Order: sequence, then structure tokens, then C-alpha cells
Amino acid sequence: MKSGFDCSKCPGYCCSHPRIEVTDKDIERLARHFELSKAAARKKFTYHYKTKEADEWILRHRKDHVYKSMCQFFDQDERRCTVYEARPAVCRKYPYGNKCGYYSFLKFERAHQDDEDFIPSA
Ligand code: SF4
Ligand code: SF4
Repeated sequence: MKSGFDCSKCPGYCCSHPRIEVTDKDIERLARHFELSKAAARKKFTYHYKTKEADEWILRHRKDHVYKSMCQFFDQDERRCTVYEARPAVCRKYPYGNKCGYYSFLKFERAHQDDEDFIPSA
């Protein structure tokens, strides 16, 4: 099936999502990738987000020059994931089909502005 989006033309909006949840299995994969213990990987790459409604381990972020902040595994110059093989399940699944809403928005805005590098604020 032909994909309706092209991540190579996008500055990586999905990796700017503030709450990218990782499972135990995701931590294990990242720990293996970096040759760390699971506890060390959890501490280094995630923080615990606990509210009345949620109890999650979330990937840490860093400030970014395009979006407000990005997942710390995102290469901000190359605009790509640096742990692609070891990325969490949620990153593998996104955008859950052959369409990406942000990419459609980006394409529309770029055509509208007649500027193929235009980045609208989301
Ligand atoms: S926001 Fe969509 S087009 Fe952009 S990198 Fe993520 S999945 Fe790809
Ligand atoms: S792990 Fe990779 S794909 Fe997932 S949010 Fe971080 S940079 Fe993006």
C-alpha cells in the first residue's frame, strides 16, 4: 500500500509529542541497544509521570529549534531518530495507518505558502 506521507520531508513533528510512553519491553530494548542495565536505561531515558489518571514512563525531551522540545533521541540537525532499530513500540506504530494528519497539514500549508520548506506552528 502506498503511504500518504513522507517522513523525510517532515521535521519530525511526532517526536515532539510531550508524552511518549514506553513499556517495560521498550526499556529492555533500549537497555540492550545502549548496553545498560534496565534500571540505568529507565533512569537515563525516561521519567515517571503519575497522576490520578495516569501512571506512565515517558521519554525525556530536549529543547529544539523547530518545535518547543523533542524526544532526546531525536537528531535535531538531521531531523531523524537516532535509535530507529531500538525505538519504542508506540513510535513503530505511529501514525497508525497510511496517512499522517500532520503531514497532510504540512503539505497543504507548503502549497498554500508556495514554499516547500515552510514549517507551520502546530
Ligand atoms: S509527523 Fe508524520 S510525516 Fe512527520 S515524521 Fe511523524 S509520521 Fe512522519
Ligand atoms: S524514540 Fe525515536 S521515533 Fe520515538 S520519539 Fe524518540 S526520536 Fe522519535
